[in-house]
Amino acid sequence: MPSNDLGPVGEKPQPDWILELTEQLPGVIFQLHRAPDGRMYFPYLAGSGIQKLGIDRLDLAQSALPALERLSEDGYPRLMAAIERSARCQSPITTKFQLRLADDRMSWIALRAQPRKIDTGTLWYGMMIDISEQMAEEQRLRRLSDTDDLTGLANRRKLMQRLDEEISLSNRHAFPLSLMMLDIDHFKTINDTWGHLQGDQVLKDLATLCQEILREEDLVARLGGEEFALLLPLTPELHCRKLAERLRERVAIHDFGIGPKRITVSIGIAEHRIGDSQETLIHRADENLYAAKHSGRNQVMVGV
Ligand code: GH3
Ligand code: MG
Ligand code: MG
Repeated sequence: MPSNDLGPVGEKPQPDWILELTEQLPGVIFQLHRAPDGRMYFPYLAGSGIQKLGIDRLDLAQSALPALERLSEDGYPRLMAAIERSARCQSPITTKFQLRLADDRMSWIALRAQPRKIDTGTLWYGMMIDISEQMAEEQRLRRLSDTDDLTGLANRRKLMQRLDEEISLSNRHAFPLSLMMLDIDHFKTINDTWGHLQGDQVLKDLATLCQEILREEDLVARLGGEEFALLLPLTPELHCRKLAERLRERVAIHDFGIGPKRITVSIGIAEHRIGDSQETLIHRADENLYAAKHSGRNQVMVGV
């Protein structure tokens, strides 16, 4: 590794021990200069992360472009906006983005930098560090907190989050949106007759049946116990009703490992109306589910 003979702007030549130290640092420390015409370059770069980037620092001392070209599609405008804002308000940059490293992996990089106005433009003093592992862990935890343990479906938390997004789209653009609430009929008897473990297997199989009948963009969630919700964006009530009937029929003839025709479900449907909140939509679907139970179970209700 060549020593960093490009010293920081405005600094005296560095003693050897500083060079030694900075080259061992994880990540990268840098100065980034931006001229009034927008041209950028790195007058100073140090740290072991430069090797991982795989771009010669002498090239980066001429122009920041070879590094900027490695940014992901959405990372580029995000970083440019952060730099622009920082230069305008003289405020620190705190951002993260994905960057393609020398090994061709897209890595998550966290960047912190402090701007300083100088005669020739703006000079940032900053550092970058690879946070790919933390990002992967964060994503794993997020997925875990959105998932129902038993069935692997979305849980209530995830349903509420998606409902929120889909309802605001429907309110804004009048897109159709339908919700099914599904509850297994006499599930207590299934547990009592076949045991809790077999009951669990029924729940898992039902999750699979629901997913088979729906599209990729639909969401199936287990709300707890033997209650499921199916959220169908861009689906009007009439179409949702047909799907619900198909699902009900499939369940009624399916063999859940206890012989065919042992399990039935009741389903309540509600279509989003402009101005509906999560609560009102869920409430209407629940009312219809309740009505389906009351009129004998193993049916789909829309009425309320
Ligand atoms: P209904 O037709 O009115 O819905 O009757 P039901 O028996 O299905 O309804 P109820 O709410 O009385 O009983 C639900 C049962 O679901 C009671 C409980 O033992 C069972 N249950 C809840 N969660 C689980 C679970 O995770 N696994 C299993 N095996 N059973 C569960
Ligand atoms: Mg039930
Ligand atoms: Mg129930």
